[in-house]
Amino acid sequence: MRIFDGHNDILSQLQREGQGITPFLEGRAGHIDALKCRESGMVGGLFAVYVPSPSPGGSFLEQLQAPSYDLALPEPIPWREALPVALEQVALALKLEAAGAVRLCTSVAEIETTVADGSLALVLHMEGADALDPELHMLDVLYASGLRSLGLVWSRNTIFAQGVPFRYPSGPDIGAGLTDLGRDLVARCNGKRILVDLAHLNEAGFWDVADISTAPLVASHSNAHVLCPHARNLTDDQLAAIARSGGLVGLNFATAFLRQDGRMVDVDLAPMMAQLEHLIAHVGAEGVGLGSDFDGALVPSEIGSAAGLPVLVQAMETHGFAARQIEQICHLNWMRVLRDTWGG
Ligand code: ZN
Repeated sequence: MRIFDGHNDILSQLQREGQGITPFLEGRAGHIDALKCRESGMVGGLFAVYVPSPSPGGSFLEQLQAPSYDLALPEPIPWREALPVALEQVALALKLEAAGAVRLCTSVAEIETTVADGSLALVLHMEGADALDPELHMLDVLYASGLRSLGLVWSRNTIFAQGVPFRYPSGPDIGAGLTDLGRDLVARCNGKRILVDLAHLNEAGFWDVADISTAPLVASHSNAHVLCPHARNLTDDQLAAIARSGGLVGLNFATAFLRQDGRMVDVDLAPMMAQLEHLIAHVGAEGVGLGSDFDGALVPSEIGSAAGLPVLVQAMETHGFAARQIEQICHLNWMRVLRDTWGG
């Protein structure tokens, strides 16, 4: 089964490890590397550029293991500080391409050619617009470097919007909507046909984007709030808006967004099946894909890494999803929404 995944954090992981692209090439990287993708049929995905915040109070993922939690939003990062960190990750993507491990794709036709050639399609995404200046000159620079997908925020405020905190239990309606600069940025993204990602945006910001964006609404790695009442997950009203726009939701594998109790500890695959059922019921058969969060979160141990993706496909078959539906979830729906967003 071909798998195109909506979200991974391997670029920031490689940057943190400080050994360049070698761990990816040699099959020693975390959840995603060249060997794991080849083994599992993962043919491509959105690779996030992500500027980390220092984590006070211990490991970020460990803080999410408590029965309830309410993490303060980290301090905003000025764009001049965020930019070199982001550009180093873009450089890692370019190095992966130069080494022949991936092809950086900016159209669905390119993704399809890349997959047909047996190579890995890398779509450059930026998780949070921290590295963009108010005049948006850097948007043009990053676009020229291949950026085709952008989230206005990670769970941290920017000059464009407010991120949703890691809070459980909680609804997503926390904080104000987009700033004027945020509205400008959405319009610029629409004009350049850059995908605007709604994952990590608070609810007010979500509705602002829904009001002004001319593109399908996409949440690359988010789950249904009714099954796991985490602030990061989407209400049924939000899912309905995504459906109306012809958009897509990518199933997030992070256990804290799957488990009903919101804890970032192991879980079996049953909640993933329940999430898929709910998302398909509310967003539609053509509106659900995968958004693993590989290398950014704890994922169910039965999957473990990109090498375990066939286990997820098997679980979908056993659960009774039709073959066509599984293909749609695994790659066809992402191709559809990228084509609708980018054109061509
Ligand atoms: Zn994320």
